[in-house]
Amino acid sequence: MEYLKGISEESTHTGQPTRRELLEEIAILQSVLESTSASIFAFDKNFNYIAFNKSHQQTVRTGRGIDLKIGDNYLEIARMNGGTDGDKTQKIFKRVMAGETIEVIEEFGDLALHRASFSMICNPMYDHEGQVNGMTVFCQDVSERVALEKEVEEKSHLLNGVLDNLPVITYEVDAEGIFTKSVGSGLQAVGLQNDELVGKNAFESFPAAAVELQKALAGKSGQFVSKLDWDGQEYVYQNNVFPSPDQQGSITGFALNITQQHQAEIALLKAKEKAEQAMLAKQQFLTNMSHEIRTPMNAVIGMTHLLLQEDPKPDQLENLNILKFSSESLLSLINDILDYSKIELGKVTLEKIDFNLIELINSIKQAHNLHAEGKEVFFNINIDPKLPEILIGDPVRLTQILNNLISNALKFTNEGYVIVDLSMKKIVDDLVDVSFTITDTGIGIEPALKDYIFESFTQASADISRRFGGTGLGLAITKRLIELKGGKIYVDSTLGKGSSFFFDLQFKKSNKKSGYTMPALVFESLAGFKVLLVEDNEINTIVAGKFMKKWDLDIDYAIHGIEALEKVKKNEYDVVLMDLQMPKMDGYEASTAIRNLSGKRFKELPIIALTASVLAEINNQVMDAGMNDYISKPFNPMELYSKIAKYVRKR
Ligand code: ADP
Repeated sequence: MEYLKGISEESTHTGQPTRRELLEEIAILQSVLESTSASIFAFDKNFNYIAFNKSHQQTVRTGRGIDLKIGDNYLEIARMNGGTDGDKTQKIFKRVMAGETIEVIEEFGDLALHRASFSMICNPMYDHEGQVNGMTVFCQDVSERVALEKEVEEKSHLLNGVLDNLPVITYEVDAEGIFTKSVGSGLQAVGLQNDELVGKNAFESFPAAAVELQKALAGKSGQFVSKLDWDGQEYVYQNNVFPSPDQQGSITGFALNITQQHQAEIALLKAKEKAEQAMLAKQQFLTNMSHEIRTPMNAVIGMTHLLLQEDPKPDQLENLNILKFSSESLLSLINDILDYSKIELGKVTLEKIDFNLIELINSIKQAHNLHAEGKEVFFNINIDPKLPEILIGDPVRLTQILNNLISNALKFTNEGYVIVDLSMKKIVDDLVDVSFTITDTGIGIEPALKDYIFESFTQASADISRRFGGTGLGLAITKRLIELKGGKIYVDSTLGKGSSFFFDLQFKKSNKKSGYTMPALVFESLAGFKVLLVEDNEINTIVAGKFMKKWDLDIDYAIHGIEALEKVKKNEYDVVLMDLQMPKMDGYEASTAIRNLSGKRFKELPIIALTASVLAEINNQVMDAGMNDYISKPFNPMELYSKIAKYVRKR
């Protein structure tokens, strides 16, 4: 207590504390120093201890097994503790001795080889003349803090490394929308410098993203695509923006260069457009082809039918039958190809009409009976009596499916039977599930080819076509039609024993008393009715005309729309058959013009379109032009008869 010398014991009335008061104060300070876990000590100019607290004494004891005494040299003890790189510390201490306050972080090890980081806050100590005569040190274990700082530093180093090398631009935008930062190799990649965006307005730079920027400024993250024109090139960026974590009201954003993906997307879109155009061209080609091929086919088949009915000589009869058979095969091939393309193009729409199931099955049976009798194959169709008689569905497509399967079965069966079974699988409310089975005792199908036969243009073996004919399209069409109706077809077959084809279809039960029935095969006279046939193709006119004459119809002709319009105005017809593609005025225009004439009879006159097109759109176009119905060319005499009969008899 050297420095208490000269301080009086009693109060001196000078306001100076007495020696006792000072001693009390020192005692308080001492107890504070002793109770802290920090090491506190002081040494003179020669680094010899002049004071230390218990905590420091304890640290030195556990650290080096030394009992610290006043007068011990700090530098020596520190060196023993594995710390204090003498030079560095001496330099710092010199600065403290010159009057600075400095914090040093030092690492020390103890006897157990634990190393720890210590913060040493060094303060100069002054004598009563104001001269530095030593220093005090406040020393604390800051290992946790140091470790944490190290971790943060490592992480931020890593992050900066990532940000610098990612092909992105990282930016910050303040509350006013001004860029305050822009960094990242994404900038250099396009020849820009870091911070080149600083000072620019983000709303002007990203005009399309105002809403997203506004949202981010209001505290919500968002995404947008921006474009940058630089050096005559356009760059496209995917931006992610979010409120800056540290500064309120500002945004941080990342812009990733997606120019290449963007270009690829555009190329893909163009390719898609091209493919769609090609599809359209294919469709158009089909329409034209069907028109071109089916019109002369119409003539060939029609004329053959007529010649056969005109009492030919026996040797002509044989030739005509070959002509009839070949032209019909050719037509069915064309129809199959068109039908298949239509399904593939998604142009087939299924009808939902009331039809009489029993009558439909009976007429299918009738149509195939002849074929079966010729081969002495037993052929029958069994209908489950539980099945409702009138159903709602597409009778024409159902007929097509059954015809395909039955004609295959008959084609590939030479003895035994072909049996078709229709059974009711279940009925829930008005939904009826019907199971169809077509079984034959024919040549059968090799197991490996069971799935293959449903592909287009495939037959089970190379000699099938030679032996049985066919194109390999029938089952492909059948399968797709069944799938369109929501069903699936399966086959069970043993080579040499026979085959069974199965599928289920769902229909709605109709509460009508009668439905669509197959047209009758007998042609009753239609004498007394007058028809106007509007058709530019002479051969078609002759063929259709000859048929209609057989049915005793009174026929008038027009070769284009303008002539048709004139004739309709002058004469009373019971029905107009209107070709669609004609010179001068086509069938659509002519029909619209007829409907626009004033007078009830022009509104009610039945107009039936004649079309060689196979496209589903035709139906709508025909209806839009005010026509009542359409018949596809080449005419099936039965269809031509039944449609004419239907409309004239209504009148
Ligand atoms: P195709 O017009 O050639 O008959 P399909 O698609 O209808 O074409 O049939 C494809 C092939 O499947 C036939 O060529 C035949 O090899 C085989 N096939 C189809 N139905 C039967 C059947 N009931 N019995 C034996 N083979 C059949």
